[in-house]
Amino acid sequence: MKPLFARIRDTLLPPHCLVCDAAVGDDGQFCLACFRQASFVSAPFCARCGVPLPYGGAVGAGGRCARCDLVPPAFTQARAALRYDETAKRLILPFKYADRPEAARGIARLMLRPGADMLAAAQMLLPVPLHPARLRARRYNQSALLARELARMERLPCLPDALIRRKATVPLAGLGLAARQAELHDAIALRPGVEVRGRRVLLIDDVMTSGTTADACAEVLLAAGAARVDVLVAARVADPRFE
Ligand SMILES: [Zn+2]
Ligand SMILES: [Zn+2]
Repeated sequence: MKPLFARIRDTLLPPHCLVCDAAVGDDGQFCLACFRQASFVSAPFCARCGVPLPYGGAVGAGGRCARCDLVPPAFTQARAALRYDETAKRLILPFKYADRPEAARGIARLMLRPGADMLAAAQMLLPVPLHPARLRARRYNQSALLARELARMERLPCLPDALIRRKATVPLAGLGLAARQAELHDAIALRPGVEVRGRRVLLIDDVMTSGTTADACAEVLLAAGAARVDVLVAARVADPRFE
């Protein structure tokens, strides 16, 4: 039986699907139709960066994608709950740009299974930071909301302000790898006084595109002495060459 206030709230504002308007049993759930449409990331994917790989495609040594073989990322592993497709967009875009911070709990729940090993190993959760100007425009950092929910579910410390953006970066989409790295160089820093030496850190983000931003964060944390940095995201853009 739900507590009285929850029953009253459900009567006034019946819980609806994370993606559409269909009624569901509880807040933060998919309806059956949207659940069926969601593409959860499943094997084969890169053992290192988690990018979905084509069936029967060439996988490098140790199950890594060609890019991780060529230029290994600074983070140890990255995993995602969903492929960033139309359903994932309908889930994440309203959460990102409109007033649906309550969706954080439902999205965070989807991240528990793919992130199980990393969450078990992690000693602290850090969201990928938003630049203050963008934070003002959106009023909240969706990665911090996800990190906070995951930290609460897993009883781990969350340091929402540990990483900071020192400059506004242009949108990275459409830039090549070298241009992305140049754009991010020195853009991310660890807040003075935050101690990560010897700690296993799990970075949390909503969408991972090329992984360059997560990689820049991991570099900063490893330079500050972190023992290991993993990355857990809600959705992952598959390699466009395979779509
Ligand atoms: Zn739905
Ligand atoms: Zn990879």
